[in-house]
Amino acid sequence: VRAAARFAGRDPVEVLREVWGYEGFRGDQAAVVQHVVDGGDALVLMPTGAGKSLCYQVPALVRPGTGVVVSPLIALMQDQVDALSALGVRAGFLNSSQDAGARRATEEAFLAGELDLLYLAPERLVVRETVALLDRGTVALFAIDEAHCVSQWGHDFRPEYLQLALLEERWPDVPRIALTATATEHTRAEIATRLQLEDALQVVASFDRPNIRYRIEPKDNPRAQLLRLIRTEHDGDCGIVYCLSRNSVEQTAAFLVGEDIPALPYHAGLDRRVRQENQARFLREDGLVMVATIAFGMGIDKPDVRFVAHLDLPKSVEGYYQETGRAGRDGLPSTAWLAYGLADVVQQRRLIDTSDGDAAHRRRLTAHLDAMLALCETVTCRRQGLLAYFGQPSEPCGNCDTCLTPPQTWDGTVAAQKLLFTVVRLDQRGQRYGVGHVVDVLRGKTTPRVTQLGHTALSTFGIGADTSEAEWRGVVRQLLARELLAVDTDGYGTLRLTEGSAGVLRGATPVPLRREEPRRPSSRGDRRG
Ligand code: ADP
Ligand code: ZN
Repeated sequence: VRAAARFAGRDPVEVLREVWGYEGFRGDQAAVVQHVVDGGDALVLMPTGAGKSLCYQVPALVRPGTGVVVSPLIALMQDQVDALSALGVRAGFLNSSQDAGARRATEEAFLAGELDLLYLAPERLVVRETVALLDRGTVALFAIDEAHCVSQWGHDFRPEYLQLALLEERWPDVPRIALTATATEHTRAEIATRLQLEDALQVVASFDRPNIRYRIEPKDNPRAQLLRLIRTEHDGDCGIVYCLSRNSVEQTAAFLVGEDIPALPYHAGLDRRVRQENQARFLREDGLVMVATIAFGMGIDKPDVRFVAHLDLPKSVEGYYQETGRAGRDGLPSTAWLAYGLADVVQQRRLIDTSDGDAAHRRRLTAHLDAMLALCETVTCRRQGLLAYFGQPSEPCGNCDTCLTPPQTWDGTVAAQKLLFTVVRLDQRGQRYGVGHVVDVLRGKTTPRVTQLGHTALSTFGIGADTSEAEWRGVVRQLLARELLAVDTDGYGTLRLTEGSAGVLRGATPVPLRREEPRRPSSRGDRRG
């Protein structure tokens, strides 16, 4: 008997038990598996950790031939193949990282019908040689992993994915299953259209992760805040801390180690071996904190990550959801914590302004950022906002910061007008300043700079003395989040008006604001941030 046919025609649940040793399918897995085994197409949207892989791996074993998996995550292919091999599943991959000998061996195994699963990078699949190769063997199904990469609207667009429409044209009888953990209505529709899966079985699992407590707080002294989180709530726990830059990864890891918290850095600038070693230790040891850029985490399956902390603002809700989703896969209470401040907004807007790509691309990035900022500034349930973003209506959750301690709101319209008016006044003098100086003027502080520039003479000097500095920063942050105010990307973070500002100045746009927690005096000068 040809080895590849070991499981052909068998009951999927039996295969699941025999190969993986699991009791049974979870949630929608059984329905998807049966549908694909029967030759149907499927579009599967399930959050990270829900078990998407089995949805195509089991059918690949049950159907005759090899399951061909298209995945952009080349770096993970070896791991995936190793993990499958350990289960006795014959898997291989074809990608640019491999030498000619290894490639030929894999191709021969495929042609001999000795592969259950074959992983391919999308750019590999569409070349003529690969198409010819697949034509000469037997393909059980095509699985298109990370299918949101086909969406131009999405946060992770890859042009090679557009060519996957070829699958339907070339092999109309081979079932296709597309999988993603991104579930906005927009993305789902785009996947269905571009991959010609309009008639496919569509399965949208709930994106709720009820055991994760979402918390977002204003950034004050981020390291001290992180330390407090770990010491008071997650002492000895395993966690991930995300930072934007390699530099801050290094520094934060060193800081934690200095505080006797076992922490390791992870970013793309580290030597490959160091990176692998750190990742292996994180998976193996208890209670390690991985301080990382978002390069870390794809394909990491560690069930007991108790907290995910963000020291910088994620670029999109999709990214935030994906990263926080690495917490609490075992279902036990876990924390998703984010500290976010004015400097984050300024920095992200600057990154967008200076990014490559056309205006449409920048508009998309802006829309993604705005959705993330709205989640940060919301005065209603975070989970509700998050799930609504993914097209799933829900009730307030009772397990997020806004549910547990409802934020006080106040009518910030007049404060916003004072602030915008100060910006107008300065602008009329041909001058532009950053947040620090504008707030000093509002609060009537006679700093050397205010005095020297003669800004004590401004009509708005001191008209905001009744509002604390922290509160003013909150006003600015929330105005920026709603694009009622903008920062220049000139390196000085100077403030300027937007189209929306006029409405606030006229009193036509009310500005309800989140009350800022009273803050301890910041030890670090966070002037423009
Ligand atoms: P996803 O790709 O959706 O992020 P995975 O396919 O990596 O999720 O699965 C996440 C984890 O859940 C894996 O460790 C997997 O083995 C496990 N898992 C998935 N389905 C089942 C199941 N039916 N029974 C037990 N464990 C499962
Ligand atoms: Zn809530």
